Amino acid sequence: MIPRKLTLIVVCFTLLFCDVSLSQELNANFARDPGQPIDQQYSDHIHKYTTDPSFISPLVDYLPASKTVPTPAKVLGDVSGAPDMLPYAEDVYKYFRLLEASSPRVKVFTIGHSEEGREMIAAAIADEKLLADARENDARLAQLADPRKIGLDDAKARQIIDQSWPVYYITGTIHSPETGAPTALMELAYRLAVDDAPYIKYIRSHMIVLITPVVEVDGRDRMVDIYKWHKAHPGEVWPRLLYWGHYVAHDNNRDAMAMTLALTRNVLDTYLGWHAQVLHDLHESVPFLYDNTVGDGPYNAWVDPILADEWAELGWNNVAEMQSFGMPGVFTHGDFDTWSPGYLMFLASMHNGISRLYETFGNGGADTEKRILQPEDYSRTWYRQNPPLPVVNWSQRDNNNYEESALLSTISYFSHNTHHFLENYYGKSKRAVEKPSLEGPAAYVLPADPADANRQVELVKVLKRQHVEIEQLSEAVTSTAPAAKRGDKPKDESFPAGSIVIRMDQPYSRVADALLDRQFWAAGDPQKHPYDDTGWSFSHLFNLKVVRVVDPKILKSKMTPLDNPSTLAGNVSGSGGVLVVANTGQISLLPLVYSPKLKVATVQVAEKAFEADGKHFAAGSLLITNAADGDVTKVLHDLSLDASRLGASPSVPVHAVTAPRIAFMHTWLGTQTEGWWRYAFDSAGVPFDYINTQTVAKQADLRSKYDVIVFAPVGRASTLEILNGIPLWNNPMPWQKSELTPNLGAIDSTSDIRPGLGYDGLAHLKEFIEQGGLLITCEDTAQFAIDTGLAPGVSVAPQGDARIVGTVLNTVFVNREHPVAFGYGPGVPVISAGGMAFNVSSILGRTGGRMLMDPLTDPLDPYAKRATGRGTVDDSDEPPGRKIAEPEPLVKQQPWEPKPLDEEQMRNNPLVIPEQSRPDVILRFSDGKSLLLDGLLDKGGSIAEHAVVVNAHLGQGNVLLFGNNPVYRGETIGTYPLVFNAILNFQHLAHDSAPAGKQTPNNKAVPQQGSLPGGAAQGSISE
Ligand SMILES: [Zn+2]
Repeated sequence: MIPRKLTLIVVCFTLLFCDVSLSQELNANFARDPGQPIDQQYSDHIHKYTTDPSFISPLVDYLPASKTVPTPAKVLGDVSGAPDMLPYAEDVYKYFRLLEASSPRVKVFTIGHSEEGREMIAAAIADEKLLADARENDARLAQLADPRKIGLDDAKARQIIDQSWPVYYITGTIHSPETGAPTALMELAYRLAVDDAPYIKYIRSHMIVLITPVVEVDGRDRMVDIYKWHKAHPGEVWPRLLYWGHYVAHDNNRDAMAMTLALTRNVLDTYLGWHAQVLHDLHESVPFLYDNTVGDGPYNAWVDPILADEWAELGWNNVAEMQSFGMPGVFTHGDFDTWSPGYLMFLASMHNGISRLYETFGNGGADTEKRILQPEDYSRTWYRQNPPLPVVNWSQRDNNNYEESALLSTISYFSHNTHHFLENYYGKSKRAVEKPSLEGPAAYVLPADPADANRQVELVKVLKRQHVEIEQLSEAVTSTAPAAKRGDKPKDESFPAGSIVIRMDQPYSRVADALLDRQFWAAGDPQKHPYDDTGWSFSHLFNLKVVRVVDPKILKSKMTPLDNPSTLAGNVSGSGGVLVVANTGQISLLPLVYSPKLKVATVQVAEKAFEADGKHFAAGSLLITNAADGDVTKVLHDLSLDASRLGASPSVPVHAVTAPRIAFMHTWLGTQTEGWWRYAFDSAGVPFDYINTQTVAKQADLRSKYDVIVFAPVGRASTLEILNGIPLWNNPMPWQKSELTPNLGAIDSTSDIRPGLGYDGLAHLKEFIEQGGLLITCEDTAQFAIDTGLAPGVSVAPQGDARIVGTVLNTVFVNREHPVAFGYGPGVPVISAGGMAFNVSSILGRTGGRMLMDPLTDPLDPYAKRATGRGTVDDSDEPPGRKIAEPEPLVKQQPWEPKPLDEEQMRNNPLVIPEQSRPDVILRFSDGKSLLLDGLLDKGGSIAEHAVVVNAHLGQGNVLLFGNNPVYRGETIGTYPLVFNAILNFQHLAHDSAPAGKQTPNNKAVPQQGSLPGGAAQGSISE
């Protein structure tokens, strides 16, 4: 169907020149009601703050007056988008509540609270008749959302559609430095409630517009604080916003998969609670308006094709409307791929709605600024024929004009096509329910297995937050699972009673499918710049067995709803005074030792595997004695930990566990990536002191206070930045609570964020480790540990031309008896941001790395090592006239091993690292063939089989280095225990406490680990 105005545009192009009357005719669709008076002063200010006549449209170049309804100026003191002014969330809400109090067309709701307890709201705007009927309308929409309720009957659906109004949900300022949306949405709400322009009356009477003006409410208030500080300190440099939300910054828009943050949950609950059709999220970055509704490929492989067409329809229409207003720099195709389902807006796509996102141009505050654009931003391209201007004086009002004009015109289009979009909504929902018969699979099954139960609980919690229905088999079932490889035969899988079933014949099957399936991003994909992670399979990242079942027979099996995931684990069996909790890679073994209920109990870690009560317990299992009975049972239940009672302690070597004293050390450079670690520790219930690099710089004797210091990733920080901080050339930049900045400094504070760790801090950190502390590092902080000599013998492996972009990779434990590997199988899937891996060396200062020393078996170049001479490439040269001298036999080295040293290299060499101080490789990447699990992997040979988790030794202590990020976006439940194991066993990471089998004889040219007898690696080399 060609919309009305699109037809006019086509006519325009046909005539080549649109005459004036036609142009007026075009925009007459948005003409105001000449009978309605305008608020002259407000309208004058709109014009005054708009920096160029082309930056405004007829939709927003006036404000209608109302005798009863206050304009945003009532709260703001000036118009929306006025310079030098940003309202706090509280003021924005105050205005929405004034609207509600003065207009029957506005209703305001609390939709939840942030981590720091700040309120989130939504306002519903429509004619009073629609709002009065909202409950009944929602009951109708609920039937379209879940077509099972009407027996998938299209005729019934059509009747419902005829009676129903759609809901269009707009969300603002999830990204706190993107400051324009709240004021734009205040004014938009006023216009929708008050304006009598025919097109607005049509919107009001045909749909409900739902608005959440501030999504990241904690971050908004801090951003306003900073802006106020900036205005009070003219000419000074102002700090960048560090903490946006309580935990993360920009990544709050990457939480739509795991749904860890309150804002994500509140928005989804509102979106689904209203059965809305669109979720339209407002952002600011590129000039002047990128409606990335169309975006670029590859599109997410799990969305309904109907949605892809809706994106095209809405995106191109919106651009065309804006073009008709003569506003430059509006486009909808661009390099944002729509692959990852992690963005907030994508909650709609994964729940049968429509996701949309605007990027308008923002100045990071309300200053009016000269902005100089880059050629890629102002160049004319096929999809941006009227590009942004190369140099521009830009105001917050300009931004608000673009946001409001685009929103009003697109909502107007939507209001004229409500039937069409509701039909699509029903169609997508119906096809989601019909998934098993249309394309499959029929279901995903998590086989009942006590070893997986703890992590199954975590996955079920995520799916519940996504509003996915979960069931449990009441009987054992055998079903057909698809073959692992194309061409192979499908195989039968048996699932015991109690196995978890995620049926695909439910309305939100799409999101479960997208999370649990596997992803493949072709190395040759035309999209060369993936916008975010290319792989995310939760089946892998939660380290779970998840079976994709295609056989629809399983849907007929007896099953019951699983309402409470906590019933899956937390059971205590047997009798006796010794409680044993098997280590099966749960995320709650570490939290257990901090439980106040276990204060009087004795907790020990079994250093070896053992059998008891007919069960197998892996090394790392916990033995608990002297616990108060009722207390411990409750704690185990709360932590989803199964336990067995034994009559007596098993005869197995143990070490005692105390609750390690943990400090989180953050920098003042960035607090996001470490924020995901804080989230994980907080939500698991692991307490820590939150300190920063400046604290460490000042504080000697850290070891007396802490056992473990977690230095989680900063996020692409260099070692020099960590040491030096921000240059001291300018003014101090405080991050603390003050009258001007009441929202800063609650999480941590400093009078000046500029100084870094410094060399004193580094010395204190070194001393902490040498005195027996454990420092945990990851990605850029692992690089920091290497650069500053805290991790002797470890270097970062050169990556060559390998391409890895947020890819899930396969790994192999090199030493399964290492405490960090406790509870794991042969390997664990890890997410790798860019393929960081390590080399280890037994000589200080050498980068180590692969030295294929056997000239005859070097697969890379078998001819390179053989000198010219007699014989074949496989022979040795034999100079005539003397006896044959055989060279020293060379020991083959694996990529994760240090280069073996011979007597020649060891002789009088002060750089040789003593045996007990050489790094231990715990985990390595798999070989090239089995390395990729999910996402993009191109030319992975340079990192294949290289170390990815290494424990380095310094003095009495240890430095754990992660090349992967084991605690990431709430998605990597499967690798949390790598970190937790290390903390729980921090005193047992040195060589001499490790199992004897992995010791190497001194001064012998043998590899340290991996190929030694007894280790897992022998068998795993050929995995
Ligand atoms: Zn943004």
